[in-house]
Amino acid sequence: MRKKIIAGNWKMNKNFEEGLALVSEAANMIHDEYQGSAQVVFIPPFIHLNAVSKLISAESNLFSGAQNCSNHASGAYTGEISTGMIKSCGASFVIIGHSERRQYFNETNDWLARKVDAVLSENLTPIYCCGETLEERESNVHFDVLKKQISEGLFHLSAEAMKQVVIAYEPVWAIGTGKTASTAQAQEVHAFIRSLIEEKYNKEVADSITIQYGGSVKPENAAELFSAPDIDGALVGGAALQSRSFADIVKAMK
Ligand code: PEP
Repeated sequence: MRKKIIAGNWKMNKNFEEGLALVSEAANMIHDEYQGSAQVVFIPPFIHLNAVSKLISAESNLFSGAQNCSNHASGAYTGEISTGMIKSCGASFVIIGHSERRQYFNETNDWLARKVDAVLSENLTPIYCCGETLEERESNVHFDVLKKQISEGLFHLSAEAMKQVVIAYEPVWAIGTGKTASTAQAQEVHAFIRSLIEEKYNKEVADSITIQYGGSVKPENAAELFSAPDIDGALVGGAALQSRSFADIVKAMK
């Protein structure tokens, strides 16, 4: 059985007090109302990470994560945060290659491959994001784009290392737009990603990897998306900024 993982990426939202209030409220709701076994990950801005980590516990299937990391271990890299620092703050996950980082910070697949290595070197879990733009989908090159993102960012890993990775399929045209990929569109891509992994590694590796869907996931569409056989959870943006909507998305995962 693959791990089901629901992660909330707050991006650059919530001041410190607001962030702690959000985690406390959502953690209480999930504790009181959720009977399933999905792992839930809070991914706040870096400066909230240590405090957020202290409010939650892995025994309750609640985890924290970072939105980015340096690909260096330490040194003269002003403004950067290493994976060792992230781990020492109590976090377990790191988002790598979110489309906003690819788009606004020019992060390339090669660059992201080094970040994946930095995350795995600390035994943290990378959530490796991939996804096509609207233009790429409309010109029917989305499978090529996804293949390139995944092979260049991840396929240098050994089979054992690959099993530690979580992949998030996030079509850029569905992020923050209110437009969700249909369940059939998302399932088609998730199955394609799994087939790429099987081709490169083997069926055991492909079947063990959690593939999340991300892009305007809300309480209203979560259950249908989660019913697809290759959708193993969600990476949630906007709807993770409110405790009620985030907890309701978690509750949609059986
Ligand atoms: C995201 O930022 O990863 C995301 C999926 O955002 P939203 O849910 O707001 O579309």
